[in-house]
Amino acid sequence: MFGQSWEEAVSSESNPRIAKSLQELWLGHKRFRAQRPQAQSYSESELQHIAENQQPLAAIVACSDSRVAPEILFDQPLGGIFASRVPGNVASDSAKWMLDIAVTELKVPLVLVLGHTGCLAIGQLLAGRVSSAGGTLRFDVQKAVHRARLGGAEGLFDRAVVENVRLTMENLRRDSFAVQRAIERGDLGLYGGYYQMDLGEVRLLGNGG
Ligand SMILES: [Zn+2]
Repeated sequence: MFGQSWEEAVSSESNPRIAKSLQELWLGHKRFRAQRPQAQSYSESELQHIAENQQPLAAIVACSDSRVAPEILFDQPLGGIFASRVPGNVASDSAKWMLDIAVTELKVPLVLVLGHTGCLAIGQLLAGRVSSAGGTLRFDVQKAVHRARLGGAEGLFDRAVVENVRLTMENLRRDSFAVQRAIERGDLGLYGGYYQMDLGEVRLLGNGG
């Protein structure tokens, strides 16, 4: 329907750390889709090890929606994903802070902004619902909805989801010095993703680098 295949993304990355991170997310997602997730249980010594070390393979900005938990969609254990979840997967202050820590302290090689079908935050704005909840972040979603409307009525909801992911990628890159510098150095890949809930499938929307 749109976007870039996981294979293309992995093979187009010249930085092996970024390619490996994409590959690991993809393999985990394939396990999720094949109904063969890895058993996640933790012995005392494993918990001790995790408590003292973390090397997450990716930082993910996802929606708060109960159906889009990134650790489950990408079949990752504790310590695998550094995440920020906020309605509408917007570039909130907390998402920017999360990325600053993930990129600067933990040298995470990949940032994924993950939108999803049926997002309630986007649905509210498409329906013209007025509220002060969300403050200025609500305007970001409104802006994405506006961009989608410029493309006509067909497939409006799904296009608004895609525009909203792209806008978050733009905002993160613009506002996060850590993200900007790491991309310029070639140390970080910034990707968008689109989760189609009824199929249980995440597709990539390309990178913003
Ligand atoms: Zn949502």
